[in-house]
Amino acid sequence: MIPSVLPTYNRAPLSFVSGEGSWLVEQDGRRFLDFGAGIAVNALGHAHPDLVQALTDQAGKLWHVSNLYQIEPQQRLADMLVDKTFADTVFFTNSGTESCELAVKMARKYRHDRGEDRPVILTFEGSFHGRSSAGIAAAGSEKMTRGFGPCLPGFQSLPWGDHEALKSAAAQPDVGAILIEPVQGEGGIRPLPDQCLEGLRELCDEHGLLLILDEVQCGMGRTGKLFAHEWAGVNPDIMMVAKGIGGGFPLGAVLATEKAAQAMTAGSHGSTYGGNPLACAVGCKVMEIVADDAFLSQVNRKAGQLRQGLEGVVASHPDVFEAVRGAGLMLGLKCKAANTDVVQACYDEEILTVPAADNVVRLLPPLTVTDADISEAVNRLDAAASGMTVHG
Ligand code: PLP
Repeated sequence: MIPSVLPTYNRAPLSFVSGEGSWLVEQDGRRFLDFGAGIAVNALGHAHPDLVQALTDQAGKLWHVSNLYQIEPQQRLADMLVDKTFADTVFFTNSGTESCELAVKMARKYRHDRGEDRPVILTFEGSFHGRSSAGIAAAGSEKMTRGFGPCLPGFQSLPWGDHEALKSAAAQPDVGAILIEPVQGEGGIRPLPDQCLEGLRELCDEHGLLLILDEVQCGMGRTGKLFAHEWAGVNPDIMMVAKGIGGGFPLGAVLATEKAAQAMTAGSHGSTYGGNPLACAVGCKVMEIVADDAFLSQVNRKAGQLRQGLEGVVASHPDVFEAVRGAGLMLGLKCKAANTDVVQACYDEEILTVPAADNVVRLLPPLTVTDADISEAVNRLDAAASGMTVHG
């Protein structure tokens, strides 16, 4: 008999009842160190007092009004994002997938309104942009699209790191945009080198393409800058955001330049819940905390500490791990043993990690993780690796 919850997930037999900072409490009382953070969602950890306050204050005033009216927290959050980024304008969504939908629609409408037939968006092997029809078509992976055809047309997936393939694809007359994650998350924590992002920007400028960055997982302070592309010093035309911006409350956004967004006029897009007062009140507080130089420099310092600890774990267990990679507090352990076995061994040591493609285990702690939490995580990862029996 089919379970009452549609069984689309492989769930671990763990049920958490409360959380505080980087820690989660299981119903049996065990305390787990949360180095998954809801897959980069709980940017400020669990039950951050300022976020609880922002949510409950707003909950006592107003939960929902339609986007037919002005929404003060939404306006405030948009102003903060415009102030701190390349963007001139923001549309709020409820998830990364919805941000992907709008980014695709915006890029297509931009071309349409210029009278151009350039609907094709170049994407990259290993990418992940959500599970909607556009999201799976953009990622182009057989694993996600099989059985769900016909696939939404207008995407061309290119090999990761093949500059020649990219250059010739970008020159095709029907190509209008490039969509890429500055650090691939689901694809196995693969950072795009800064010079490649610079090269992509140049290529886009050369051919008049829109550069769309998916910062759903790598944005909002995760790499030690507010957004990951800032390391390369180049700006996108359109950017998808979600996950960390709501700190655990469902919230996403599409940020864009005036030029890229100009075709999105009244009636061209909408969302019942997008930009609702509760989500935006929380989002404003997250932005206030994360978009602060002192906070971001702490992220960088802690990232260095975690990385150093992980290098030690990898060196001590060469039969389990191969290397550490990633950026900031978005780190991956490339495994020799099966990554799912490593994640399981971590459960046994009461630390949560997340598997990714390319046999990688992801470490995405809250950005508020403490030095003591990092030391404890390194000890638990070391114990997990020590306890593993490696086959073959
Ligand atoms: N884009 C990236 C890079 C992601 O990592 C994800 C989710 O993991 C998405 C898009 C989809 O976001 P959501 O699950 O909020 O719809």
